[in-house]
Amino acid sequence: MDPYHNLEDKVQSKAAFIDAAMVKEIPSLFDQRKWLGRIMSWVMQDERFKVRLFRFIDVLPSLKSDEMVLRLLNEYFSEELDAPLIIRHGIERIAKGTVPAFAAARIARSGVETLASQFIAGRNPGDALAVIEALMKKSISCSIDLLGEVVLSEREAGAYAARYLDLLDTVHDKLLIQEEIRAAGLNPGAGISLKISSFYSQLDPVDWEGSVEKTKNALIPIFEKAARKGIGVTLDMEHYLFKDLTIAVFKNVLEELRDFPFAGITLQTYLKGSRDDLLDLIGWAGEKKKRITIRLVKGAYWDHEIIVNRQKGWPIPVFQRKEDTDRNFEDLTSLLLENAGIVYPAIATHNLRSLSHAAAVAELLGLDSEGFEFQFLNGMAVPLRNALRGLDYRVTVYTPVGEFIPGMAYLIRRLLENTANESFLRKSLFEKRSFGELMRSPGQVGNGPSNEKTEKDFPFRNEPPLDFSKAVNREKMRYALGKVKKEFGRKYSLSVGGREIRTESEMLSLNPAAPDQVVGRVSSASEKIAGEAVSEARKAWATWRMTSPDHRAIILLRAAHEIRKKRLELAALQVYEVGKTWREADGDVSEAVDYCEYYSRQMKELGTARRLGDYPGETNEYFYEPRGVGVVISPWNFPLAIPMGMVSAGLVTGNCVIFKPSGLSPVTGWNLVSAFHSAGLPEGVLQFLPGPGGEVGEYLVSHPDIDFIAFTGSKDVGLRIIRLAGETVPGQRNVKKVVAEMGGKNAVIIDDTADLDEAVRGVLESALGYQGQKCSACSRTIIVGGMFGEFVDRLKQAMESILIGPTEDPANFMGPVIDKAALEKIMRYKETGKKEGKTVLIREVQRQGYYVGPSIFSDIDPGSPVAQDEIFGPILVVMRAEDIDKALEMANGTPYALTGGLYSRSPANIRKVKSEFRAGNLYINRPITGALVGRQPFGGYGLSGVGSKAGGPDYLLQFMNPKSSSENTSRKGFAPGVM
Ligand code: NAD
Repeated sequence: MDPYHNLEDKVQSKAAFIDAAMVKEIPSLFDQRKWLGRIMSWVMQDERFKVRLFRFIDVLPSLKSDEMVLRLLNEYFSEELDAPLIIRHGIERIAKGTVPAFAAARIARSGVETLASQFIAGRNPGDALAVIEALMKKSISCSIDLLGEVVLSEREAGAYAARYLDLLDTVHDKLLIQEEIRAAGLNPGAGISLKISSFYSQLDPVDWEGSVEKTKNALIPIFEKAARKGIGVTLDMEHYLFKDLTIAVFKNVLEELRDFPFAGITLQTYLKGSRDDLLDLIGWAGEKKKRITIRLVKGAYWDHEIIVNRQKGWPIPVFQRKEDTDRNFEDLTSLLLENAGIVYPAIATHNLRSLSHAAAVAELLGLDSEGFEFQFLNGMAVPLRNALRGLDYRVTVYTPVGEFIPGMAYLIRRLLENTANESFLRKSLFEKRSFGELMRSPGQVGNGPSNEKTEKDFPFRNEPPLDFSKAVNREKMRYALGKVKKEFGRKYSLSVGGREIRTESEMLSLNPAAPDQVVGRVSSASEKIAGEAVSEARKAWATWRMTSPDHRAIILLRAAHEIRKKRLELAALQVYEVGKTWREADGDVSEAVDYCEYYSRQMKELGTARRLGDYPGETNEYFYEPRGVGVVISPWNFPLAIPMGMVSAGLVTGNCVIFKPSGLSPVTGWNLVSAFHSAGLPEGVLQFLPGPGGEVGEYLVSHPDIDFIAFTGSKDVGLRIIRLAGETVPGQRNVKKVVAEMGGKNAVIIDDTADLDEAVRGVLESALGYQGQKCSACSRTIIVGGMFGEFVDRLKQAMESILIGPTEDPANFMGPVIDKAALEKIMRYKETGKKEGKTVLIREVQRQGYYVGPSIFSDIDPGSPVAQDEIFGPILVVMRAEDIDKALEMANGTPYALTGGLYSRSPANIRKVKSEFRAGNLYINRPITGALVGRQPFGGYGLSGVGSKAGGPDYLLQFMNPKSSSENTSRKGFAPGVM
């Protein structure tokens, strides 16, 4: 007979039984007689207040002075007019200055500390002993988690591991008490919980093997010591991105330490794929004959998963309806308990329904109370936890220990969990839903509409990046790298008026990681051929300009399709041709697709004439026509995306385009043109004309039959092109339009309210991503206030920890710079930096190929060339500013105005910087590179460029002449449409 045939009845009776065993007390978080309860109640009613309060709680521990606490209290809450009296009175007094700073700060800090102490057992293991001891006296086990800052360097990872090793000693001392408990026949047990991301600073699924190996090596000493001390180790589960890695590390550690007795791992049932993972782990444990603990949780990173995966355009890995997670939790609980002979089930939930379900299933399966356990988070659902213990179930409490700052992420997760609309605790304690409603089976909950967005909600969507945490994508990339390598040395022709032209003179495209490798030999145009290309383009334009905008838009979509088909190969090509990492290369290819998709949609809108005014007897129309023949001149650093943006814009607006790629990335350029030809673009409309910039480039720019120039590159070349294009020659019929995107000397400001974890990581990524060879890269960091020392030290350590080498190997975060000239230029600036300032870091790299490690200089005069010139390499200047105004003055102290950034949690500073920072693209609390088409349209002003932003709504207008027509539609006093 089905053991579960009367399961639901059993669940309900278990629930009633456990409920009856509970000592009814309201936790202070929900107790409205207490100030904490009143504030939380306001949080649950007002989303805006919730956001402000949680943000304030997040920033508070980093505020170094009472004055700052007072200032931030004002910034966050002075407009909080609807707040309940208790809050409003306090705020008003603070705003009026009737509360001294020290008093306001003390109240705020002690309030948040009280809140934190609900969940965090102590600032250090010694501090936490009282909590642990009290639990053990009740015969409740602990799994202790050390809260830590985000690990950004190997030094930080080492320090974290050392803290865990110390913790094991402290816990072991406690085992003396445990022995007494054991002697009394009570439930002993102590363990630690840890997150793998804290043990290897370069953890990244793209480097699967390296990440598994290095994390395993860091964890083994901890497991070994834990084994000696009889302490269990459970791996926590973090973000979805690390899920498979965590499982792999777990298995690898245990395969090496076969006798380790008490290992555990966590699975999150909000993940749609969690059943497969559970089956896999049960199968693995059975095969290895190793009884592991599986801690089943619902999952604490739901908001994060939704945000990140939606931003990337990846499938959402979590259930979006809470009922589905609850349903899955019950299903997996049954599966887990059914396999209690192979694995040890730990059911971790605060939901009485889910718990009762587990208890009922265990009973139906005949499991005794030793066969599984319940787990709770410290400070959550205490009455329920005590009731279960009282009923003789095994109970373990997950006990976080740590300082205030690292504790904030944990605290915020708990607050979100408690106050979420779907939270069981909220529903039962705050909303006071009926027992029957709360105990309803999740299976019975109606299948309401999922809030997943559908395709039609997003007319344009960015091409999702490849998810390299998936083995299949890593394998495909490896295959593509092999395929591209086999094509090394191939010859590529020019394409002029539909003819393939091979020239004697060739451009050699070399692999910057191994300059003796020739990626391709590309024919190089002469001025004579360039002249032919212009007249071919003129011929082709006669027809192309008459094609419908819709048809042209379709050609772009087809080109996007061609690029998608070769996506991995094109990315692999960039790894070899320009030294990009896998992700950077894939990002460039996706961006190329985005331009086609975005501009094709834009053209459909712009292609229809607009009617202006509404008057009888006249029809006024506003519409656009193409400019004519243009030349596109592009750089090597985004070798597909940038020229694709300019070329596709030129074509879709009805122009013919002569494309001159950079001499350092001509093979990628050839592939761009080939995609358009495969897409059915008529001959002569797009021509491929690589050649020396100073000759062929200038010849084209100065040619009287060229109508526009779209250029992206350095300031000096851009300004020269603008000057040359401004000269008109006899016979010329157009003033040339120049769209020029040029360089930058971009700054990131970090104020004294910034989240240092985020700031260090963001600056590192912005300064060293693609070796600092992005026009958007950060080359100056300005630090406001007292964080200078800490920031610079953490950044330096982080820069020392990254791996540098050929980007063919995904472990490497940095690869080579583009060529010898670039390397020499960077070296010259390094010498200047050494002479003119203080060297914080110079990391040497001894390798064949054009490698240069990161450098940081401080105490540099803001007027020095190192702080003024675009170096285009991994050199960072760090500067100090007394306040935000001084920081802005420094940031704005170059003629460039391309990108800029701010790390701050001060609403006032964010507002100020948004309005006063001179930068075309401003980024707040995120890296300053990686602009996406349609989301962060890209381009600067000042000496960083002229023209509208690439990937933005005005861009295409630059490639067309606007026209207006006015027709008199009245004949002899009669006009259509007059009533
Ligand atoms: P570059 O200026 O040396 O070359 C750009 C292009 O111009 C190449 O195709 C080159 O062959 C051509 N060229 C060179 N001299 C020429 C001349 N006299 N007449 C006509 N064409 C000529 O730049 P690069 O080294 O290829 O690229 C790096 C630069 O590009 C950096 O300054 C970077 O900031 C800038 N960049 C800007 C953006 C942006 O959107 N603002 C984007 C990427 C790169």
